Amino acid sequence: MNLALLFDSDFVDADRAVLRGRRLTHLTSVIKVATGDRVPVGRVDGPMGTGEVVRLTDSEAELRVTLDQPPPPPLPLTLVLAMPRPKMFRRILQTCAALGVKDLWLINSYKVEKSFWQTPWLSEDHLRENLVLGLEQAKDTRMPAVHIRKLFKPFVEDELPALLAGKQALVAHPGTSVPCPAHLEEPAVLCVGPEGGFTDYEVGKLQEAGCQGVHLGPRILRVETAVPVLISRLFDSCL
Ligand code: SAM
Repeated sequence: MNLALLFDSDFVDADRAVLRGRRLTHLTSVIKVATGDRVPVGRVDGPMGTGEVVRLTDSEAELRVTLDQPPPPPLPLTLVLAMPRPKMFRRILQTCAALGVKDLWLINSYKVEKSFWQTPWLSEDHLRENLVLGLEQAKDTRMPAVHIRKLFKPFVEDELPALLAGKQALVAHPGTSVPCPAHLEEPAVLCVGPEGGFTDYEVGKLQEAGCQGVHLGPRILRVETAVPVLISRLFDSCL
């Protein structure tokens, strides 16, 4: 936690917030704050700044906050991701939030196991919890939007074309002939497949919708590796 993200419910006055639970434990056990110390804070979907510890007990830390800086710019990327295996999903969510992804679409694909959609990590509370961890890691405050689409074909035929309008549209697929572009300056949509990859039919549908197939070379990367490699290759702004 490189920044404590503050919610409306944390504020006890216009410039005072009280932290408990995980954030308090982090402040006391990891950062080892004392009264008078200043720590980086940010208001969810708002500005960032510092919080001075004005009261510290076993159960609460009260901060006097000054919020005077904007959060980092969002990544101009819509990420369309085949629903990952639950074991990896939390980490991928945190990574996406840390890299500045603000628009994430979780979609079905033939090789996404049906059981993946049953994971409790898809509940609103768990999605938020992991996005917060990513934002706090990277020092950002803007909460990403997560959209869930459990049917591939209606998503690709009815919704994807509008998402692609005016953007560079890509599907990362090993074995295609075009290398993934770099140094993009325009907004982009990037589709990333499941552990077993998109089927030829799915790649065809994504291409029909306007996505160009791109590759990252001959090494096949796990989804949790491919996502940050693709994003950092596409956008200098996330470096
Ligand atoms: N056997 C699968 C295939 O060939 O498509 C491997 C899928 S890979 C583990 C999961 C996803 O990560 C892929 O669908 C793709 O979106 C992305 N990916 C991984 N390595 C890649 C590479 N070298 N080039 C392009 N995309 C890659």
